[in-house]
Formats: sequence, C-alpha cells, structure tokens
Amino acid sequence: MEEHLICPWCLTEIVWDEEIGPESHCPHCDNELSAYRTIELGYDEDEVEADEHERAVQALKINDTHRAAKQNDSDSDQEEWDEDEQEHDSDDPGHKRWLQEDDGYRSADTARFAVEETVQRVLDDQDEVPECPVCRSYMIEAGVQLVGEQQFEARIAPSLGGPVLTTPFKLALYVCPACYHTSTLLSQSDREQMLKRLTPNE
Ligand SMILES: [Zn+2]
Ligand SMILES: [Zn+2]
Repeated sequence: MEEHLICPWCLTEIVWDEEIGPESHCPHCDNELSAYRTIELGYDEDEVEADEHERAVQALKINDTHRAAKQNDSDSDQEEWDEDEQEHDSDDPGHKRWLQEDDGYRSADTARFAVEETVQRVLDDQDEVPECPVCRSYMIEAGVQLVGEQQFEARIAPSLGGPVLTTPFKLALYVCPACYHTSTLLSQSDREQMLKRLTPNE
C-alpha cells in the first residue's frame, strides 16, 4: 500500500519516491517529520488506537526506568559527597577544583574583561605606549633586547662617513595584547646616541 503523509509543517501531502522510500525530512519544506506525529491518511482506527496504547505503555516504562536510574544516581552522588565532606572537609582539592571549574565556566567575557583591566594597568606604568601597526591596540612593553656586535652590522652612511648606530644598543620589545604582533623601538639612551651622530659638528 502506498503511504500518504501530510507534512505537519507545510501541510503538503507527501508521496515518497518509490525507490528511495520514506525519508525523515519533508521534501517540500525540509523540516523533520519525526519531530511531529505524521498524519496518515486512510488508517484503520483500531490499529491506530492499539498502536497509541502500546506507545503510551512504552513511554511510561521508559519514564520509570529513567526515574529509577536518576534516583540511584543522586543517591550514590549524595553518599560520595557525604564521604568527601567527612574525610576532607572543605579543604578537599576536588571540591576546590569543582568551584574553579564552575568559575571558569561562568563567562568567557568576564575573563576577557579581567585581562583587559590588567593590560590597562600594565600600560599605565609604561613610559611609552605605542600603537600596534596591525590592529591599533596599545602595545605592552615586554622587555629589552641587547644587540651586540655579533648580531648587528652597522651601515656606514656615506654622507656621514660613519654608522648611525653603534653596538651595543638596546631595543625595547613591545607585544600587542590583541594580535601578538611585536615591534621594537630603540631605547631612550640609544636614541640620544643616534641623535648626536646625526647632529652636524659645528
Ligand atoms: Zn513540509
Ligand atoms: Zn595588534
């Protein structure tokens, strides 16, 4: 017998492809059919009633099983919890871990806001706060890099007849807290050194 269904979502009568057979989704509106009881045309009333009764019995059985399982679960949980409380009191590391996990789960936004606050405090203490050339965030001063002879070969500018910068010199390394781009700036003392070299002798 050919099975006719009416989609409960778009109310279109569905005739299944003979080769593919019934599918779980409506071919017209693509909604899931099993989510709703489909309407069968030309059904036998007794059959449906028996079917429904059977389904109701099954549902009750499943509910009972679930409830029983749940009951057992919470019982044993309660017991374990009590044991923990007695043995370790509130110093129990598991208890603390649980609190921390709960805390971490609370909100990623809260965590990000906390990081932003810390970044702001770090920036407040910096002498210089350069902008990230990539994303325009303010950059954190991470440290100083000492550049020695081995890492640097000075260019001799012909017009000066000498180097603009001589080793050793220091570079301040800045890190962008948003995109992690790094930038270096010549340290304050070495800027003076360079300016002196660029200042014409009188
Ligand atoms: Zn439909
Ligand atoms: Zn950046």
